Amino acid sequence: RIILAFESSADETSVALVKNGTEIISLEIATQIKSHQRFGGIVPEVASRHHIEQITLLIDAALSDAGLSYDDITAVAVTYGPGLVGALLIGVTAAKTIAWAHQLPLVPVVHMAGHIAAAQFVAPIEYPALALMVSGGHTEFVLMQSEYEYVVVGDTRDDAAGESYDKVGRTMGLDYPAGKTIDQMAHQGVDEYHLPRALMHDGKLDFSFSGLKSAVINLKHNAEQRGETINLQNLATSFQNAVLEMLLTKTQTALTTYSVKTFIVAGGVAANRGLRDGIDQLQVQFPDVKFIKVPLALAGDNAAMIGAAGDIAYRHGKRAGYDLNAKPGLEFDYLSPDMAFITP
Ligand code: ATP
Ligand code: MG
Ligand code: FE
Repeated sequence: RIILAFESSADETSVALVKNGTEIISLEIATQIKSHQRFGGIVPEVASRHHIEQITLLIDAALSDAGLSYDDITAVAVTYGPGLVGALLIGVTAAKTIAWAHQLPLVPVVHMAGHIAAAQFVAPIEYPALALMVSGGHTEFVLMQSEYEYVVVGDTRDDAAGESYDKVGRTMGLDYPAGKTIDQMAHQGVDEYHLPRALMHDGKLDFSFSGLKSAVINLKHNAEQRGETINLQNLATSFQNAVLEMLLTKTQTALTTYSVKTFIVAGGVAANRGLRDGIDQLQVQFPDVKFIKVPLALAGDNAAMIGAAGDIAYRHGKRAGYDLNAKPGLEFDYLSPDMAFITP
């Protein structure tokens, strides 16, 4: 099986060809970060325009890189949510058009299922599996009894972890998105500032990051009022330590609560060096669980991960008609029919 996959939910336009859900034949990614940076975030209209300009070029590039034609393709998979409606529509429209023109099955994919399925490029996922899905829009634990059953067993009550990196970065005067920069700075500073960690001792799997973000904003504001300067490198270290402590403590709780065969860390923030190191250390406590960190290069948005998740959805008979629409607020679309297994 060869899946032609599309991703256009935010500021990356991406097209990929993926074989059997585990092998990347070609992957094209066009990022628009430079166009959005001066606005400090993604401008939806600008994003849609870039997606339109790029998508047909990327389809041609993906096919010619692979030396394949439309005849070789088994199905077309596309992210249909969540994300920016105008951005999603470009990918959805391209996928529908190709599916119709070449009479191929059309497979709608949930963006987060894609992030998680990127683990398949590292090693086979054994089930039941648990994923820490941590990105710009999500920070949640996803439990999967089998490959096509998703249950969210923990979620953020406010900001996502990546969002808090970006907002704190803005306060620090860094370019958007700030995750990678803060990660680099954090490795050079010392933990000087006392910042709060939320929901640490409740034994539950929900997160909260807005208090931490507010604490950083207040710290900076108060220092400015007093004419003091903040050491930004040390602030980055203190902030990252707080985020990691929350993510890793909850992960430890999740792995104690649910006995799973595989643990996956996925999403844009899975590129964080501190998080990857912390996950490696946690592995020691859970020697029987197979830990998979999605590849660094595939942590952020890309179509290869949509091809991997699309392959799973395709094999389970998931199909869309030509009336497929973008769903900006989409959640996991295939939930476990047997909720009993989630009761710890
Ligand atoms: P979602 O996947 O929830 O819909 P998204 O697609 O916008 O949201 P991703 O592209 O998966 O998010 O991830 C982008 C986020 O990852 C940004 O918030 C960015 O700051 C963050 N990020 C990227 N690299 C790092 C890093 N090294 N450390 C921390 N955060 C990072
Ligand atoms: Mg992005
Ligand atoms: Fe994403």
